[in-house]
Amino acid sequence: MLKVLKFGGSSLADADQFRKAAAIIKADPDRRYVVASAPGKRFYEDEKITDLLLRCYQLACDRNPFEETFQRICDRFKAIAAALQLSLPLDEELERVKNALQNGASADYVASRGEYFNALILASYLEVPFLDAAECIFFNSSGRPDTLRTNTVLENRLAMMPRAVIPGFYGAMPDGSIKTFSRGGSDITGSIVAEAVDADLYENWTDVSGLLMADPRIVENPAPIDVITYRELRELSYMGATVLHEEAVFPVRRSGIPINIRNTNQPEDPGTMIVPHTETEQQERVVTGIAGKTGFAALYIEKDMMNSELGYGRRVLETLERRGINFEHLPSGIDTITVVVSSAELEGKMDAVVADLKRAVRPDALQIYDNLALLAVVGRGMIRTPGVAARVFSALAEKGINVRMIDQGSSELNIIIGVAAEDYPAALNAIYQEFKPEE
Ligand code: ASP
Repeated sequence: MLKVLKFGGSSLADADQFRKAAAIIKADPDRRYVVASAPGKRFYEDEKITDLLLRCYQLACDRNPFEETFQRICDRFKAIAAALQLSLPLDEELERVKNALQNGASADYVASRGEYFNALILASYLEVPFLDAAECIFFNSSGRPDTLRTNTVLENRLAMMPRAVIPGFYGAMPDGSIKTFSRGGSDITGSIVAEAVDADLYENWTDVSGLLMADPRIVENPAPIDVITYRELRELSYMGATVLHEEAVFPVRRSGIPINIRNTNQPEDPGTMIVPHTETEQQERVVTGIAGKTGFAALYIEKDMMNSELGYGRRVLETLERRGINFEHLPSGIDTITVVVSSAELEGKMDAVVADLKRAVRPDALQIYDNLALLAVVGRGMIRTPGVAARVFSALAEKGINVRMIDQGSSELNIIIGVAAEDYPAALNAIYQEFKPEE
């Protein structure tokens, strides 16, 4: 067994968290490669090191003093190293970053230093070699991950290193300069390392015990999700359920490596397993999770005999495209088509879009429903279970919630329902109560 681990910012926020992470790593000899984030928040009002670094960068760019903010960064790293009784040449290295800031270092270089120092400290604490991401994670000249080069170099380097600590979040451009992924990108580094070494498992250690069936801010005490497929996760995260960087799924998914989301503060919890597919039907709940978002608008277009009019749908979409509007969903009937877009896309363009559509497709009726919420009821077991939609709709009807739109994708992995934004919390609760696991 070979496991790649990634520890998030809150899991490495101070010396105590480092001790917990180290205990987790040492508890299992298969846990050989570790990707570290920068120190995150220790308490609610605290600031992440990456945010402080980016502030220093901005201050330096504007030729304002950044020294005080930079000192806070130095203090945090030095406090961690001191509490763990490590003797590392941090002063010299930090001084080098300070000079770089004075001399116009790039935002990516500065932002990446949080991971760099944290990984150095973790490597020293674990007495495991440090491998700089700048030497093994590569981007091509257009800034996209260079998978081939990364895999080859990582595979070769790690073949000679039975264990290593690697900083997350960044890599190198072809000219050697530092480039970061988007925020939260250490998840991607972990996934890339797992793919390169063909790991059996990618453990992603964070501050929650995995994914929950519904948003805990709206549903009281939702049940955890023990197993979810990559595709279900994609559906839920599109609707706002976040636990992992969206792009982190792709490298491990390519090689079919499962991801286990775990809680550094409660290592005994099994967390959520994200898998390519499930083996047995017993593992399948009818509904795996429910997620939703407000801020959608639906353009409802009706035209007699639409079904026999060639190119109708294309003209509708073309009209929107010309105004730069992207659509999210496209449920249609025989003589109707509904285009669901995010309200933000329509802002300031509503009248113009209506006029364009009237001209281009001469609808019999054209209505816009704004302030919609969409809910995705996601479950791989749905396909085998009759009556799921009926249960969803009667749960909503019982609470007097009006369904404005329904879209059941042909994958039968989810049902998407549109309700008025003010009904969203009640709708989420009603559906959760209907499908929650039995106690
Ligand atoms: N430290 C970076 C951030 O705050 C990357 C990460 O933590 O994954 O976004």
